[in-house]
Amino acid sequence: MCSGRIDLEFVFRAFANGVDGVFIGGCILDECNFATHGNYHALNMVLMSKKIMAYTGLNPDRLNIAFMSSGDGTAYVKAVNGFVDRIKKLGPISNDTEESDLARKLSRVRQLIPYIKMVKREKLDVQLKDEAAREDFYAADEIDEMFEHVVSYYIDPEKCRGCMICARNCPVDAIEGGKKMIHVIDQTACIKCDTCYTLCPDKFDAVQKIVSEQVPEPLPMEARAISG
Ligand code: SF4
Ligand code: SF4
Repeated sequence: MCSGRIDLEFVFRAFANGVDGVFIGGCILDECNFATHGNYHALNMVLMSKKIMAYTGLNPDRLNIAFMSSGDGTAYVKAVNGFVDRIKKLGPISNDTEESDLARKLSRVRQLIPYIKMVKREKLDVQLKDEAAREDFYAADEIDEMFEHVVSYYIDPEKCRGCMICARNCPVDAIEGGKKMIHVIDQTACIKCDTCYTLCPDKFDAVQKIVSEQVPEPLPMEARAISG
């Protein structure tokens, strides 16, 4: 698989499944055969993943990316052996932090991956050619802030006209509703992809973004019918 295909979800799913380390091998930077230079994307994603790992309590050294030629088996073996030695020294991930706390945090990170990719999309697109700029491209404060001020989506029952556009387009079926019914978002299922906010017609403007505030309780089912 091309390293450019590696997603945040692959990395954090692996840690959630209990692996002690993740190694990504990519082609040498600036030698990609395609205009996309997916290995720069992989590098950028790894840099952010390391900061997110620190946020969850995981040692960022448990994730590594190395760039090498597919014909250079010696470089590959050296990189993998070096990483295996490092992980042996670090021991199991349970050495890093309390397991139930880690499981809770990794679960939250995974649920928020579409949101993370949306709010950081401009930075994630940057090809970090300057090696000196890589380490601090994502600041720890910035990652803390991203998790502390997560957006929630809420449908204003006074404005919703039950057109069903949001429910039909929600990628995870997190919106309950029907024709001429006030729609309601299941906050536990919402992955914060912004689709409902984008697609709710301007004339209704019913979907709201809420930051750092409690989302209002949903209307009970018997109060959701829209008359007229
Ligand atoms: S798109 Fe807007 S008006 Fe239509 S059902 Fe969804 S929230 Fe209600
Ligand atoms: S933001 Fe809206 S469309 Fe996206 S997952 Fe949440 S409820 Fe569904």
